[in-house]
Amino acid sequence: MPELPDLEIIREGLSPRLTGQTIADVEVVRPLVVRDLTGRGFAQALTGQTFAGVQRRGKVLLFPLESTLTLAINCKLAGRLQYAAPADRRRAKTHVVWHLSDDHELRYSDQRTMGQVYLTADVDAIPGWTEMGPEPFDLTLDGFRERLRPHRGEIKGVLTRGRAVAGIGNAYAGEICFAARIHPYRKRTSLSDDEIERLYEAMKSVLRDAVATLRERVGTDTHREVRDFLAVHGQGGHPCPACGTTISEIKIQGRLTNFCRACQPGGLMQF
Ligand SMILES: [Zn+2]
Repeated sequence: MPELPDLEIIREGLSPRLTGQTIADVEVVRPLVVRDLTGRGFAQALTGQTFAGVQRRGKVLLFPLESTLTLAINCKLAGRLQYAAPADRRRAKTHVVWHLSDDHELRYSDQRTMGQVYLTADVDAIPGWTEMGPEPFDLTLDGFRERLRPHRGEIKGVLTRGRAVAGIGNAYAGEICFAARIHPYRKRTSLSDDEIERLYEAMKSVLRDAVATLRERVGTDTHREVRDFLAVHGQGGHPCPACGTTISEIKIQGRLTNFCRACQPGGLMQF
């Protein structure tokens, strides 16, 4: 699932390529992901529009157009965006293709068909938009404490849901817990002030470092997801980079959690 660092790199990669370009034509190959909130018809309303930039809010990429409209894409589990020449082979499950005035294409592919491609005149109309928490880099430590307070559950889940803080998903929530040396299944209510502060610092450093790494590793290949540099996520069975203990792996309802039981002791359950 693309999270804040992945989406920042996609935004950086697409922004100079799309800004100022006009959409010559829109090809909706598979309409399941398309959500037209304008009532004007997705392809019809987009044709002739010019991209004004590329932005990100939480896990949503925003493509404001030089009109009142915004294209908003939530990649969910497997959505990918690619800027490509028409001759480049299309990825499987390409759902939408925007033909651009520079004779290139913006493509949205999604192996799971779970993402959403909105066209709207009002981003508040996007489901979940108004409940989204602040951006991690906009939060002060006090603000972070305040945002966590209403959420009482397991800390990794709290970080993931987007209401306390936006843009963090399963992989980076796991990384943040590891960097803070906090067990991912600890209840938020069990965390001390000091532990919350560690979590806050870890959130900023993990996300900042990941953006820097991905900028090098992904660059303009915006359809690629690179995760092999993460410390614990996806590293079950390998040695912990801090202490050498074998990294634990738990999968609940398809959701992978990795942690080091030596570096991150405790938790409600013992493994
Ligand atoms: Zn360890």
